[in-house]
Amino acid sequence: MNLNSLHSLSSSFPTSERMPVLFIGHGSPMNAIEDNTFSKEWQRIGKSLPKPNAIICISAHWETKGTFVTAMEKPPTIHDFGGFPQSLFDVQYPAPGHPELATALSQFEQPNITLDQQWGLDHGAWSILKHLYPNADVPVLELSIDFTLKPEQHYQLAKQLSVLRDRGVLIIGSGNMVHNLRMVEWSKLNVENYSFDWAAEANTKMKSFIDSFDHASLIDFSNQGQAFKLAIPTSEHYIPLLYTIGMSTKADNVRLFNDVAVGGSLTMTSVQFG
Ligand code: ZN
Repeated sequence: MNLNSLHSLSSSFPTSERMPVLFIGHGSPMNAIEDNTFSKEWQRIGKSLPKPNAIICISAHWETKGTFVTAMEKPPTIHDFGGFPQSLFDVQYPAPGHPELATALSQFEQPNITLDQQWGLDHGAWSILKHLYPNADVPVLELSIDFTLKPEQHYQLAKQLSVLRDRGVLIIGSGNMVHNLRMVEWSKLNVENYSFDWAAEANTKMKSFIDSFDHASLIDFSNQGQAFKLAIPTSEHYIPLLYTIGMSTKADNVRLFNDVAVGGSLTMTSVQFG
């Protein structure tokens, strides 16, 4: 990060205890309003962490050409889905934004991050934040996924952002490691931990790469064989994981949670680094 922009933030973001980084499998938008094992764990984590100065969420559901960061004072709650009950459309997550932090991010040298005034918080962010911080009293920025970047470039961008961990900023990658919606066995949605063989294989390999700090293999996901191809038919739900490993170091404890498959072809597997 550009040191000048960080200096300008020092009153709002004093050096503080290093924050963990979270990769969270968000799954169905219904997790926002359901009291289930996933949302219970999110609530527990929210209570266990020091309260952040701000949150930056990299959501699978905001893909753009170029990298953008939400810069408005009051990011709107976006209901970016169809076919769900009205009670889900009624959810609002009125966390403030943080234009000053967004401006600091936009002063990165490589690659450019552009201030956004159009987006807000999509369900990749609010469906989990509603449980982590139910009072919506921590400022939240969303960072988009630039679909023109290579996996390695996402990872390197994350490395630049990692300095924010020492400024009380909680960074959350929100996606799903194994995410093949076309192959979901809808009749088995309620069968606990129902997983196709390839999904279990990909999930196991991903966890072992995370455990052994084998970031090169995680970045090179498109050359990890057939199970990975089926697990990652499109990369937008996987890329948030690359941001979180990019911000982690070997000194971080790695803790898995919600390590459960849903409907055969999705995993909720989530990781806390640090
Ligand atoms: Zn999603």
